[in-house]
Amino acid sequence: MKQHPILVAGGGIAGVAAALAAAVSGRDALVFERAAAFEEVGAGLQLGPNAVKALQRIGAWDEVSAIATAPPAIILRDAVSGRTVRHVHLAGAFESLFGAPYRVAHRAHLHGALLAAAAKHPSITIRGGCAVEDIQQNVDGVSLTLQNGETHAGDVLIAADGMRSGIRQKVWPGSASIFAGQIIYRTLIDMPSALEDGNCVNLWMGSGFHCVHYPVGREARLNIVLTAHEGQLTDDIIDQCCPQLQDLLAMPKSWLPWEARHVPALESWVKGRVALLGDAAHGTVPYFAQGSAMALEDAALLADLLRDAGTLPVNFAHLNKRMPRVAAVHQASVRQGKIYSAKGPVAAARNLVLRMMPDRQFLTQLAWLYKNA
Ligand SMILES: Cc1cc2nc3c(=O)[nH]c(=O)nc-3n(C[C@H](O)[C@H](O)[C@H](O)COP(=O)(O)OP(=O)(O)OC[C@H]3O[C@@H](n4cnc5c(N)ncnc54)[C@H](O)[C@@H]3O)c2cc1C
Repeated sequence: MKQHPILVAGGGIAGVAAALAAAVSGRDALVFERAAAFEEVGAGLQLGPNAVKALQRIGAWDEVSAIATAPPAIILRDAVSGRTVRHVHLAGAFESLFGAPYRVAHRAHLHGALLAAAAKHPSITIRGGCAVEDIQQNVDGVSLTLQNGETHAGDVLIAADGMRSGIRQKVWPGSASIFAGQIIYRTLIDMPSALEDGNCVNLWMGSGFHCVHYPVGREARLNIVLTAHEGQLTDDIIDQCCPQLQDLLAMPKSWLPWEARHVPALESWVKGRVALLGDAAHGTVPYFAQGSAMALEDAALLADLLRDAGTLPVNFAHLNKRMPRVAAVHQASVRQGKIYSAKGPVAAARNLVLRMMPDRQFLTQLAWLYKNA
């Protein structure tokens, strides 16, 4: 019996990963992306070992590893004193404990690598400039209507239309994303020649703010992300920093502000033949650097479900098995944001604990996240 394609609304990281999941399990996928062209939007993304394993499962790791950068370490520093609080080596014990490497990439390069992997599958069609305006479903199937009036039928529809998903808000009323209270300033600059440890992921923990920077791309650009509370001025933050960080933060000519938001917890990511994936399902604040990783993990599970179902209807409710893990990532993201921006005695205690913790213990506490995928 001929199967209808899997319809995907949204051609970001989650949408293209969902199409790859369909392709590696022998299904056709039809992706509709609102943007006419895929632009160089966004900045850097960290890909922990769990993200790498998910990329391997959907058959995109070769393309992604070709564009990704391998930072030798994550360095945690006090933004006010400038002192290094902890140095986490990312090769050796880290990689063998978690079974995959740690990488960083420009978001557009990651997206481009996923598109390159998708281009190898004739069963995937991706159409830009196609905003999904409406969806309908019944017991036999699902269909979507584009802004230009076209309609398309499918077996199931994956809504991968991002944090502010229109499909989620239509099918799950009252699920608008929530502002978390912080503004994230992002920028990309040429790698400063004298920047100490510029090839590493550097996390500067401040008093009411934090800053992360790491290199992306072959042409050695530096991705800088500064997280502040709403109303806090970047100049006031820079004044509080140690000279080394002050010098760096004075370099960018402009910053792109971004509201930190999260999607309220839903009872299910599936309603009938419609399933939410990626940020549309569980977008969260980025302080644990796991948003894309969770989207890629969703897609890896989707591939398993489609493969197991064969020609039978897929039980998408199994996607909800990921809810406890995704909820734990959300809680960890919120908690990490507070820890990285802690003030006074709490910041001093944080630094002490991070400095004293044995390496093995530091890594073991990350096993729940990085070992599984
Ligand atoms: C500052 C910052 C730093 C981050 N750092 C990390 C990190 O280090 N590691 C990590 O893993 N994650 C990180 N994230 C999170 C990560 O960027 C997101 O989780 C991820 O990109 C979400 O992908 P997505 O495809 O679900 O959503 P999106 O990227 O939002 O894609 C949704 C797509 O759907 C399209 N669309 C929307 N509506 C429609 C419609 N009606 N019809 C058709 N198409 C539509 C949009 O145009 C878009 O292309 C970070 C996020 C931020 C803000």
